[in-house]
Amino acid sequence: QGHPISPPRSPRRFLVLLNPFAGTGKALSQFETHVMPMLEEMKVRYTLLVTERRNQAYELVRDEDLSGWDVIVVMSGDGLMYEVINGLMERQDRNVSIKKPLAILPGGSGNALAASLNHYSGQTQVTGTKLLNNCTFILCKGRPSPLDLVSLTTSSNRRILSFLSFSWGLISDVDVESEKYRFMGSVRFSIGTFVRLTMLRSYGGCLSYLPARSSSVQQKGTVDAHLLSAPHNSTNNVQNSHTDKGEAQILEDSLLVPLDQPVPSHWTTVPENQFILILLLYQSHLGADLYAAPMVSGLGEGVIQLFYATSSISRKSLLKLFLAMEKGTHLEEPIPHFNHVPVTAFRIEPLEATGIMTVDGESIPCCSVQGQIHRGLGRIINI
Ligand code: ADP
Ligand code: MG
Repeated sequence: QGHPISPPRSPRRFLVLLNPFAGTGKALSQFETHVMPMLEEMKVRYTLLVTERRNQAYELVRDEDLSGWDVIVVMSGDGLMYEVINGLMERQDRNVSIKKPLAILPGGSGNALAASLNHYSGQTQVTGTKLLNNCTFILCKGRPSPLDLVSLTTSSNRRILSFLSFSWGLISDVDVESEKYRFMGSVRFSIGTFVRLTMLRSYGGCLSYLPARSSSVQQKGTVDAHLLSAPHNSTNNVQNSHTDKGEAQILEDSLLVPLDQPVPSHWTTVPENQFILILLLYQSHLGADLYAAPMVSGLGEGVIQLFYATSSISRKSLLKLFLAMEKGTHLEEPIPHFNHVPVTAFRIEPLEATGIMTVDGESIPCCSVQGQIHRGLGRIINI
């Protein structure tokens, strides 16, 4: 009665999820000293939620009403963003919620997404608080941009969404084994790599992929149209998704056939079956100082970069590869037994369960897995 219908809407409201144990354990104090003053200056309203345990952010994002927030900001490494994206995908209204603008502030030891966004914004490669300052600037000045997501299916029937990488072999082993060196920050990856190089393991399996060119026709025009309503498979793009709110939505992987069937005949299967590493990367950086995919120049390109080294690769080549990766010069001249292929879908079928696999740096048990890219399925704040 006499009151305005709704209170004036503040231009932006952020929900900040922060993992205080990420990286060197300084995320909270860095948020206070580097980020808060900037947010206050920008008159952004935000709520800070410091996580108390693993999966708390996943459950919150899965279960709570998110309509009060314009952006979900993650201050941690890539692992907390993985929780958020997979939490969004577990919601009943996932076709709306997966479009919730996200943002990343580097607070972990693996800050690949932050480093990639810093790179796309045209800034030089930096780490630590310099990277944090650049990402805070991107958060304050940027706009929501399409973020490619890869939908993964495992032989144990898990469905996972990934925004960064999938790996098996040397890189995933280093990711997991170096967790104990987290206090060193991103240096943990270099140390872990040198340790692993002295005791190389080979991983037996079958690697297949759909080369990016041959699927460009299918991919064209698929931005925002990946989500099909469950019972009828009728196209249901995000703009009109409110019409069937509450109905279970599934993400359709149009490029994949079930894992128990052979890959389609137009796929390529690698003839070798002993690998040192397999990496699928959909951003430019694999770590703050690992410029692993220099061919990726921006967000939302709709391509997965597949890298693999077969067991014939020499230690010397591997060392050269990892040293050159800091500057992204590792692809300037060919390295024997190291290959790069742009793809839109892939499948890995291990001969036996060797080592672990990682998705966005988070470990999953070794199993058969396949995935495909969904161009622009999510959104992230970018300049
Ligand atoms: P880092 O780059 O240092 O690995 P991440 O963001 O990847 O940082 O976080 C590491 C792991 O910690 C992730 O698996 C994440 O799910 C988990 N995690 C998030 N919040 C907490 C918490 N409060 N306590 C313990 N683990 C947490
Ligand atoms: Mg991590």
